[in-house]
Amino acid sequence: MAVLEEPIKGVPLVKNYINGEWVESKGEIKDVVNPAKYETIGKVPISTRDEIDAAVKASQEAFPDWRRTTPVARARYVFRLKNLLEEHFEEVSRVQTQEHGKTIDESRGETRRGTENVEVACGIPTLQMGYNLEDIATGIDEYLIRNPLGVFGIIGPFNFPFMIPLWSAPYAVATGNCVIVKPSSEDPFSQLKIAELVEEAGFPPGVWNVVNGGRVVVTGMLEHPGIQGIAFVGSTPTAKYIYQKCGETGKRVIAQGGAKNFIVVMPDCNVNATITSLMTSFFGNTGQRCLSGANLLIVGDDKFYNSFIEKVADSVSKIVIGYGLDESVQMGPLRDTEKKQRVLGYIDSGIQAGARLMLDGRTFKIRGDYPDTCFLGPSVFEKVTPDMKIAREEIFGPVMSVMRAKSLDEAIDVVNDCDFGNGHAIFTADGKSARQFQYDVVSGNIGINIGIVAPMAFFPFSGMKDSFFGILHTQGKEAVRFFTESKVVIQRWF
Ligand code: NAD
Repeated sequence: MAVLEEPIKGVPLVKNYINGEWVESKGEIKDVVNPAKYETIGKVPISTRDEIDAAVKASQEAFPDWRRTTPVARARYVFRLKNLLEEHFEEVSRVQTQEHGKTIDESRGETRRGTENVEVACGIPTLQMGYNLEDIATGIDEYLIRNPLGVFGIIGPFNFPFMIPLWSAPYAVATGNCVIVKPSSEDPFSQLKIAELVEEAGFPPGVWNVVNGGRVVVTGMLEHPGIQGIAFVGSTPTAKYIYQKCGETGKRVIAQGGAKNFIVVMPDCNVNATITSLMTSFFGNTGQRCLSGANLLIVGDDKFYNSFIEKVADSVSKIVIGYGLDESVQMGPLRDTEKKQRVLGYIDSGIQAGARLMLDGRTFKIRGDYPDTCFLGPSVFEKVTPDMKIAREEIFGPVMSVMRAKSLDEAIDVVNDCDFGNGHAIFTADGKSARQFQYDVVSGNIGINIGIVAPMAFFPFSGMKDSFFGILHTQGKEAVRFFTESKVVIQRWF
């Protein structure tokens, strides 16, 4: 099939968007690489402390007027942004594929889910409402108002470059705050494109800023007294660091971390539907999802197990690998060579630990003429035990580790022994098993006959254990709570 046209042309330099202006950074410049073609498609700055400070100053100056802009008027800016994102749907989706490597269908899904958050934030006049009670004592009324706080830092990971900052930013600005978004420096073009549309939507200067970079920008945000809070999504070690630093500096924080998701398959499941779901769960986004299936835990006798695993292997071996802008491709490359090396290291570790590599992703065929630099095929390990490294650590690649349990009780014990609690799921036709799983499994998101447990924009994106640090979550009503402070007024008139 023909490859779709690429939206990023030449080798553009990404600029920061500060105070409504496009500013060239004074920081070091790094390449942005399309991992499928292994070619440089752009340059990204690693911005300096002065640059993050300038963005905070601009946001602080913009805040008083933006806060006084009525919620109805703020919602109209957000609504214009939503319309622009829809108008540019295909372009922003292709940007994601070009800079990240995921398939165009995965990018379109990401655009849809990100834009839905902008859509939900359009309801801010209703969402930001407080509540009241007349006559808490004779002649005295009490009410609660939700006030914006000021400036928030929003830090995103590489794996959903478009969607994840949108889990937070639309709610932050709709409630009257100003934001500074720091995209992953690995794929900064999606947030650049959003900032262009923010500008076109006419947001006042300083309300929505983008500062590119890495640790210096993040530390600058964490240490700056002008930043009220941080919404972070990334790996667990960084999430823990962010949470700790926000505790030290008194900032409110959402810190979403990594994952290691179990998919439990019961012998009464709908086999064909389950296997279809497993393919996207384990191998969608090349396994680089915090909601990817990682461990497949099969309950049942040898007969069920053997026939199920044979069908799984058959489906996995048919996955088409290639450049995501070819619409016939089902799995793209890993984001970069370091990530590929990391996954290869886990494959070696599984072999050394005695697991059986039933399908070896190290040998694969690419559709089209692309270098194999960042590509890796899907792997399936059998005879994995819960103590193995491949069963315990986040691999973040196309590797399925298959384990067995004799009963649902045993399976739940194994799942709960995991350090992470992001998106565990069960496939079963039995309501009692499903309810037991939902009730007993410690996980922020639970799937029942759903392999990728991604909450819609009007539900919180939850997480437990090492997958989440904080109290309130991104998306929907909880994001509105996070980005506002409750002010209680008690009044009496003589
Ligand atoms: P990462 O932690 O390496 O980076 C995330 C962000 O933090 C980036 O913007 C990066 O520049 C910055 N950063 C990295 N190291 C830092 C440091 N030492 N100090 C300050 N800032 C730092 O994560 P990643 O590799 O970009 O993303 C993949 C990870 O994100 C996976 O672990 C995945 O499970 C997780 N993730 C979690 C969720 C969720 O909702 N829980 C969603 C998506 C991804």
